[in-house]
Amino acid sequence: MTTTMDLEQLKNLVSDREALLNNLEAADTAPLLMVLVHLGGDRSWLDRIAPHIKGPWSFHDETPDALKAEMREAVADILEIYAETGRALPTELPMDILPQMLKACTGQVVPAEYFPLINEEIDLAGTDPKTVQWRKHPAPEKLAAFNVLVVGAGFSGVGMGIKMQEAGILFTIIEKNEDVGGTWYENTYPGIGVDTANHFYSYSFDNNNDWDHFFAKGDQIEAYIKRNVERTSLRKHIRFSEEVLSLRWDEASLMWHAEICRKDGTTYQITANAVVSAVGMLNRPKVPEIKGLESFSGPAFHTARWDHSADYRGKRVGMIGTGASGMQVGPAIQNDVSNLTIFQRSPHWAMLNPLYFETVTESKKWVLNNIPFYTKWFRFQLFWSSSDTFHHNLKVDPNWPDKKHTLNAANAEVRKQLEAHIASEVGHDPELIRKATPDYPPYGKRMLRDNHWYRMLTKPNVDLVDLSIDHVEPEGVVTSDCTLHPCDILVLATGFETRRMLWPMQIEGRGGATILDRWGDEDPRAHLGITVPEFPNFFVIYGPNTNLSHGGSAVFHLECQVRYIMQGLRELIESGNAALEIKPEPFWAYQEKVDAAHRDLVWSHGGVTSWYKNSAGRVHAASPWRLVDYRNLTEVFNPAEYEFTPAANA
Ligand code: NAP
Repeated sequence: MTTTMDLEQLKNLVSDREALLNNLEAADTAPLLMVLVHLGGDRSWLDRIAPHIKGPWSFHDETPDALKAEMREAVADILEIYAETGRALPTELPMDILPQMLKACTGQVVPAEYFPLINEEIDLAGTDPKTVQWRKHPAPEKLAAFNVLVVGAGFSGVGMGIKMQEAGILFTIIEKNEDVGGTWYENTYPGIGVDTANHFYSYSFDNNNDWDHFFAKGDQIEAYIKRNVERTSLRKHIRFSEEVLSLRWDEASLMWHAEICRKDGTTYQITANAVVSAVGMLNRPKVPEIKGLESFSGPAFHTARWDHSADYRGKRVGMIGTGASGMQVGPAIQNDVSNLTIFQRSPHWAMLNPLYFETVTESKKWVLNNIPFYTKWFRFQLFWSSSDTFHHNLKVDPNWPDKKHTLNAANAEVRKQLEAHIASEVGHDPELIRKATPDYPPYGKRMLRDNHWYRMLTKPNVDLVDLSIDHVEPEGVVTSDCTLHPCDILVLATGFETRRMLWPMQIEGRGGATILDRWGDEDPRAHLGITVPEFPNFFVIYGPNTNLSHGGSAVFHLECQVRYIMQGLRELIESGNAALEIKPEPFWAYQEKVDAAHRDLVWSHGGVTSWYKNSAGRVHAASPWRLVDYRNLTEVFNPAEYEFTPAANA
């Protein structure tokens, strides 16, 4: 056994075989099969079960009950052997049979290029292989002379802080809110939740087996981030209710000077050797420029600034916007309002996932918590089901005849399924079908989860208005046909300032140029989405072209970025250089690569507007890469791509 504790736990687990078998009934077939083959090594189980697993989601499992029962007995046998012999649980992936295992687990071929990524994601040993180790541990005085300023204590800032703390790097996190959580702290609108499965939308180094839903609600995600802060004692590094107003690179001291505003409006300055922006892309609410909006007589607020003092029950609510936020708000309030008028500029596609509405039963939690490695394989299964498998179908087939509506045969097939789903939900109403069906290809805008949105549209107290808004009056919203839609409350589900990334911080780099001078109002660019020429020792998490738009989890991406930044910091600290800066050549080469990759991808499609691209049609927010590509691009920080400035006293 790896530890006495493990052995005791195992002995306890197998002490009542009947109870164990009963508990195992809640296990999904694919991850349990992985546990069985990994621990027992009997690959014949793969041949027996694989034909019944038709795809990567648990609802693709068609294994007969008798076979499942037999498998549970075999799992109990194996666990008993480990408990009796005290043999160590293997914490390595069984490479000799891994391809067959992954194929059986997902119902698909998992190419070998994914194995390093899978090794990190599954992390059987629980040691986080992405952790950046010192090559030559710096002397304490060297570490004490280097400090990092992190802006923001959401998922990214906390993840960055955890890794710096592990490495012994000094840092301070400045957070404008009163607590951690970022997006998950600020967004409290009714229905708030995530549409990436949570056992995967979570740090790879802190699996959580206690999510109440497969797609968790906002408060649980906020609690998870908080739990990580407490678990790692990170809170002492965070200054709350303070906002970074500006950052200036001082060429004499080769340090960043930050101006920080306290809650009471007073400001102070601090310096840092390096800065990590962890403010994200979806933080500053975009308030639409609609004539007369300020004249509205009732409460009007953005989804990210939900006014909980405005009681919507029994009221006429107008909601502008039908993106991910609006799509969650609508069904959450429809039942309680007297009338919900939804102003739609363009519809989104929304896909149904049966797990979206399911809670994680206590017996499923038991399996996740108690069966060795089950939670790891469960996480992998979710990774595979919701990441790269569809990416290649988002490319335009040059010979495809119907490019306005679809991109290729697979995309057309998805469109057919989505249309069938809309029809099945609102089938009796052709006008509603017309309004709710996008004319652009699936995935052109963010693919949403149908959380009973279409069903809600059919309710008698809901109106979907697809005429453009002319102006707002004190009594309500007036559309282009001069109709006044009376409202008591106006909800702005209108998204975020994704084009002006890092705004409103004033960031002045080497030579005095600000980042907005370089990016303009809507063309942010960074090497790998992380570093920017003329901005030394400045790193961005969730920066330009890093939004995952085909699938995957933002947490996966941020962990890739944290690893890369940690290597950059290691390079600086170990070498004793004062600054590093991305050279223009690799920076521009990367920009060309990104733009070239986007050229044929769905997000550049001419027939769709989205927050992924700017007014010139350049995709600035979406990543063109598969997760495995971005992992490989960011796996190793290449010092040859950077200009280093020695310390003044070197
Ligand atoms: P969004 O996707 O940008 O949607 C904004 C909506 O407002 C769109 O329907 C847009 O119409 C409309 N709009 C904007 N300005 C308007 C105007 N002047 N007049 C009329 N309509 C206007 O914003 P979001 O819904 O807040 O979502 C942003 C992102 O946050 C998502 O894509 C997702 O990445 C993340 N998010 C995730 C979740 C989740 O995990 N479940 C939940 C919420 C948000 P057009 O489409 O025509 O531009």
